[in-house]
Amino acid sequence: MTKYIFVTGGVVSGLGKGITGSSLGVLLKSSGVKVFMQKFDPYLNVDPGTMSPYQHGEVYVTEDGAETDLDLGHYERFIDENLSRNSSVTSGRIYLSVLEAERRGDWDGKTVQVIPHITDEIKKKIYLAGKTGADVVITEIGGTVGDIESQPFIEAIRQVRMELGKENVMFIHVPLLPYLRVSGEHKTKPVQHSVKEMLKLGIQPDVIVARTETTIGDEVKEKISLFCNIPFENVIVAPDESSIYKVPITLFEQNLHKIVAKQLEIKMKATKIDHWNNFLTKLKNAKEEVEVFVVGKYVELKDAYLSVIESLHIAGLENGYKVKISWIQSADLNENNYKEILKNAKGILVPGGFGKRGIVGKILAAQFARENDIPYLGICLGMQVATVEFAKNVLNLESPNSTEFDANTPNPIIDIIKGKDIQNLGGTLRLGLYKTKLKPKSLAQKLYKNDFAFERHRHRYEFNNDYRKQFEAAGMVFSGEFVDQNLVEIIEIPSKKFFIAAQYHPEFTSRPNKPNPLFNGFIQAIISN
Ligand code: GLN
Repeated sequence: MTKYIFVTGGVVSGLGKGITGSSLGVLLKSSGVKVFMQKFDPYLNVDPGTMSPYQHGEVYVTEDGAETDLDLGHYERFIDENLSRNSSVTSGRIYLSVLEAERRGDWDGKTVQVIPHITDEIKKKIYLAGKTGADVVITEIGGTVGDIESQPFIEAIRQVRMELGKENVMFIHVPLLPYLRVSGEHKTKPVQHSVKEMLKLGIQPDVIVARTETTIGDEVKEKISLFCNIPFENVIVAPDESSIYKVPITLFEQNLHKIVAKQLEIKMKATKIDHWNNFLTKLKNAKEEVEVFVVGKYVELKDAYLSVIESLHIAGLENGYKVKISWIQSADLNENNYKEILKNAKGILVPGGFGKRGIVGKILAAQFARENDIPYLGICLGMQVATVEFAKNVLNLESPNSTEFDANTPNPIIDIIKGKDIQNLGGTLRLGLYKTKLKPKSLAQKLYKNDFAFERHRHRYEFNNDYRKQFEAAGMVFSGEFVDQNLVEIIEIPSKKFFIAAQYHPEFTSRPNKPNPLFNGFIQAIISN
């Protein structure tokens, strides 16, 4: 029977519920327990796919092509499992299916209500996660307890507990425990209030993971235990860490996995976290820095590039280095300043993106990398701009562009994927996992050490095959292809030390100790330069 753990947040958002849940996932998986993870987001967008990165940060893409919250990236990197569409559920998605059913007449003329229709739909998603064969499903409820928007989710998990019982369902609450510097003490009142907020909704948390700046003494824990009605040993402290990857160890030391196993009556094997400790050792021992210039347009909000950042760090650590990222706002680059701004670049990465702003700067970044033989890694839009740049400066074609940015360009190097509907923006991109055939003896094949790559996509435009011969004659190699539709997946310039770009998003498949091959090769190229 599948067991369910629900992670809620209290006092403020942004405390790292996702990291807490993922860290517990690491401990359970390392104890031989099969784990699935899920996130409920209370907002009304059907998925985050149509949201601006400034609003929401990165859109993480699952193998099965769901556009999801960036917490899914943490989940996958931590528990090292590929999640699915069912791992990311928004209020919008729930309401949409209930209302579509209403239009079809599925509800037999009944009044459609938040309880039971919305809550039943939420429970369906929870139990569906149980059908993955997982021993334990860890579900994070986005937002903060007390928010109007998250109430149906809280009500649904209350019902799940009632249906399955305490030995099958567990509530972990993650509130902020503030530290008052003037009086030099931790104040438990906000934690108490947030637990009261939960009690009002019918839920008594089983465990509190108090998020603090620094660690706390037993007297504070005792107070939380007493006032929140929680056994002393179930009060866990999660102080700020220099790296999110340290959190599993912090929770391990306080036996969170054992507390869970005891309540949920799970038979665990001895917990083996050597792989995690190895990764932390790499983190501790990496002394020297390798610098990467990332040229993007959302650079003010680093969350927009979360998986790219994590992939760079993971690849760096694998090679014994810390990665220092220098952020370049692509919209600031122009013909007059790009050489000056990029002059110290040892490696240039152009990540994905949508829309025209900053395009000229990204093209200049690709040009600078190519002309100065600086290692270049292009991702999605970063591949598209590299081909436009090549068309402009190597093939000397007139005003080459992507039709995303200039519908009337005489040379549409990048064009809309045939048959892609652009009436509806949501969910109509080419999404999810596709198999890329790698060209024998290419850099791509060397990096992947394989004839195929399996990577995730999120794009609407593609390289225009009408130009393929011209590009090849001028020295560009198309080293990866989606054979079924002849889509270009990877380009490279073999005359350069390391110039490679992919139409897909390699950043979604890096995991601690297992950097994605393109990132690994990129970092190695910078180091050996
Ligand atoms: N905007 C481009 C496209 O739709 C690139 C997308 C991306 O970088 N994810 O094809």
